[in-house]
Amino acid sequence: QKSLESQTKFALLFLDLDHFKNINDTLGHDVGDSLLQTVANILRNEVTENNLITRIGGDEFIIIISNLHNDKDLLPIINNILSEFRKELFIKGYALRLSASIGISIFPDDSSSIKELMKYADIAMYKSKADGRDNFSFFKQNLNQQLHDEVDMINDMQRAFYDGEFELYYQPKIDLKMRKIIGAEGLLRWKHANQGFIRPDIFIPIAESTGFILNLGKLVIEESTKTIKELNDLGYTDLVISINVSTRQFQNSDLLTEINNEIDLNNISPKQLGIEITESILMESVNKTLFALQAMHKQGIPIYIDDFGTGYSSLSYLNKFPVDVLKIDKSFVDGISTDGNNHDLLLNTILAMGKSLGLKVVAEGVEEEYQVDYLSDKGCDIIQGYYFAKPMSKKDFISFLEKF
Ligand code: C2E
Ligand code: CA
Ligand code: CA
Repeated sequence: QKSLESQTKFALLFLDLDHFKNINDTLGHDVGDSLLQTVANILRNEVTENNLITRIGGDEFIIIISNLHNDKDLLPIINNILSEFRKELFIKGYALRLSASIGISIFPDDSSSIKELMKYADIAMYKSKADGRDNFSFFKQNLNQQLHDEVDMINDMQRAFYDGEFELYYQPKIDLKMRKIIGAEGLLRWKHANQGFIRPDIFIPIAESTGFILNLGKLVIEESTKTIKELNDLGYTDLVISINVSTRQFQNSDLLTEINNEIDLNNISPKQLGIEITESILMESVNKTLFALQAMHKQGIPIYIDDFGTGYSSLSYLNKFPVDVLKIDKSFVDGISTDGNNHDLLLNTILAMGKSLGLKVVAEGVEEEYQVDYLSDKGCDIIQGYYFAKPMSKKDFISFLEKF
């Protein structure tokens, strides 16, 4: 008898819908159920009859692609599936946008045990989510190690939280025309007892994927408002401290109440606390987020769109959402050429557009004088970047204010 391995090679795809829970929670199970049905139909259309599709959990599907000769043969299939998902789906009167994250394991290359193949595809799917969703990953043996590292970090984060290793740093924002500091962005730092500084780019995504970001987010709200109060007491009463807020915080906590409690507790004005959100929050956002943003805006809390220009750059949401300030991403600032002749249409367009929409525009990641010159020439007067100052502790920020 021929061994199984010599007969065939197949791929096991583990597909998980992104943010399905939001839809279920906000639009109801009826909509959720029909959506799942539509998803099953999409999958059935995309894969041929010899392949197998099973729904294994709420919004999780397993797809077996058999008769695989080369792993590359999977790419068109997977890309078709992902792009089908990105199309608008009309369900019970709602126009919904969906995306999926896929993890892939290969029989027999990764394992010949079905249980292991499922576990590996699941691990790979988790990586797709961590990489920003709406994509796919093949299982790689060292992912196991990476996952262990992440699990270690998750545990360590809780210890660090109680040991007070997280601290909010402040990076000044400077208005060129007024020649003054108008505020700062609060940026989290993890001062690890043994490992030194751990960058937020490393620990924030992990904190987001586990929900621990809710604890960190609360700390940031408490710290920033306390700092604003201290600054007020020192006579700096017109600075805005902006903080970064993740999607999770809008969805899983009562963000608005949390913020208002701290504003009241510290007796500060809502105008002094800014909220920085990325474009993706707006794209993914559901009613709950919109409601919270509108309420914040109404109270006078300034809303910043972070990393502007890097995401979908859809302008439609600028009308729908209450936005006060655009933060131009560092990549555009990096694109400014030394001779001041900038050919990046997108940067110039964003600057012009911000102006015509009556929005303030902040450029971030500004490191060089020629960048400052270019930006100010184009009417972008608010600058944040190493050119003026790096993020610093509260104590240092206060001395910076005194010396400026
Ligand atoms: P971001 O919100 O885009 O923050 C700007 C990042 O650019 C900061 O990195 C800042 O230190 C860095 N930066 C500013 N000026 C310059 C410059 O001139 N040159 C260069 N090379 N870099 C500059 P940081 O502090 O490492 O934070 C990274 C990201 O982590 C932030 O990106 C933000 O997405 C996230 N993050 C930081 N703190 C928090 C937080 O409290 N909550 C949440 N949800 N995310 C946070
Ligand atoms: Ca930011
Ligand atoms: Ca940014």
